[in-house]
Amino acid sequence: MKFTFVTLFPNLIKPYFEESILKIALQKNILQIDTINPRDFTKDKHKKVDDTLIGGGAGMLMTPQPLNDTLSHIKKKDNSAYIIFLTPSAKLFTQKDAKRLSKKEHIVFVSGRYEGIDERVIEMHANEVFSIGDFVLTGGELPSLVICDAISRNIQGVLGNSSSLEVESFENHLLEAPSFTKPNIFKKNSVIKEFLKGNHGKIATLKYDLSLLKTKYHRPDLYKKLKTKGKYHEK
Ligand code: SAM
Repeated sequence: MKFTFVTLFPNLIKPYFEESILKIALQKNILQIDTINPRDFTKDKHKKVDDTLIGGGAGMLMTPQPLNDTLSHIKKKDNSAYIIFLTPSAKLFTQKDAKRLSKKEHIVFVSGRYEGIDERVIEMHANEVFSIGDFVLTGGELPSLVICDAISRNIQGVLGNSSSLEVESFENHLLEAPSFTKPNIFKKNSVIKEFLKGNHGKIATLKYDLSLLKTKYHRPDLYKKLKTKGKYHEK
């Protein structure tokens, strides 16, 4: 799977892939990454990529020409390229999207800066548009990396142990149960005693109940979905 990051700040992207699981996935050639700077495509003699808002408004907007030329260049080289724009004014990215998008061959993330991107380029090129939450960041680079990371975990071979995906939060609208590691007692706080007894059936039931409680407490919206989808077994 290939990820291309269209960004005015490529140096923000590369370091993320220089450590840990994603570094190994690059070394194994399971993932490939590339960055393209729309400034390299601007026809403005001063290399400008932004301008004031038509109709008034604070700040500057990324102009259409450099981004349009960048994306046309990418599509010409690879017509399977799937273009994703990042903006706070879009649907929220979810784990379901991460799984679905892990089947693509080549995803292109387009990061905005300043007050965002001229809407016409989004309409001309976007296959999808995502927000990563109801807050505003200074640029689309972090959202791109967040989404890329979430997708990558679902690509075969990226995680050492792919069974960890099966019990993670958001599977079946449930948050993951509390987890513990050694030591059994840390600063007088014990792990849940049942977890130490080795009865895997009992542990699984308890974990499910704790997942339910955690979801009900932290994410009543997910808990409601669980009930309406009939996936909740009340005892
Ligand atoms: N004026 C825009 C608005 O109010 O919707 C915000 C622009 S923001 C300062 C600049 C860029 O950061 C956006 O074009 C987008 O690429 C990125 N960005 C900021 N917050 C984001 C979020 N929650 N999700 C996805 N992208 C975001």
